[in-house]
Amino acid sequence: MSKKLEKYLLELCEEKDKELLKKVPPENIKGAPPGMEEFKKYPHLFVLGAIMDTNIKASQAWEIPYKIASCLGGKDFSLFAEKDLEYYHGIFEKGPEGKSLHRYKKRNAKYFYKGIQDIKNKYGGNASNIWNDNPHSCVLIRRFQEFEGVGQKISTMAVNILRRDYKIPISDLSSIDISADVHLKRIFKRMGFIKNENKESAIIQARKMNPEFPGIFDYVIWNHGVEVCKKNNPLCRECRFDSICLKNL
Ligand code: SF4
Repeated sequence: MSKKLEKYLLELCEEKDKELLKKVPPENIKGAPPGMEEFKKYPHLFVLGAIMDTNIKASQAWEIPYKIASCLGGKDFSLFAEKDLEYYHGIFEKGPEGKSLHRYKKRNAKYFYKGIQDIKNKYGGNASNIWNDNPHSCVLIRRFQEFEGVGQKISTMAVNILRRDYKIPISDLSSIDISADVHLKRIFKRMGFIKNENKESAIIQARKMNPEFPGIFDYVIWNHGVEVCKKNNPLCRECRFDSICLKNL
């Protein structure tokens, strides 16, 4: 049963991947990664938003660089780079709306500041130098993980977005793992691919199912978790996997 499900899921994900590769991300969606034009002009907004994406909603994280830019009076990297850590501590404590910018404001002010310093010192002030040399996926993932605060989940998410949405050429996709978030772990368990909702098991299973590009499952499964296979009350009757899913609820 699970082989049939694996095959069907992979076909679905490959189809979706092709479709997404043809699409360009829309501009100016609040709480989303920057649109294509914005990304080309201000690539640091993407990197800094990704670094912020821990312990808060993703939509809040993507907004942080924009809120700071509004205080700085622009989005140019030089404006971000000229501020010191003390400035960022202050702005994370009290942002433009008078509220703190992140649940862990002190820690994330440091991650934000250090991210800027890394872009300045390692990438010549241009964040696109992180990915513009047609890197192997393992190199690109390592570059993201070198930013303080970025682990497996965020680095693979960032690389997936670079490839899928911004069409950045990556020479080999085999090191792009799934971002094993709550939806993915839950659904892999329910489908019978893994016994427990365990991150490592989910990552290994995705590698087994598609070694050339394990991260291919991310998008479809994440959406499925939000819309159908919800944490409470999964909508099995409406689910396309209903007849072949093990339903390990
Ligand atoms: S059949 Fe039910 S448990 Fe299985 S993936 Fe669909 S919603 Fe989830």
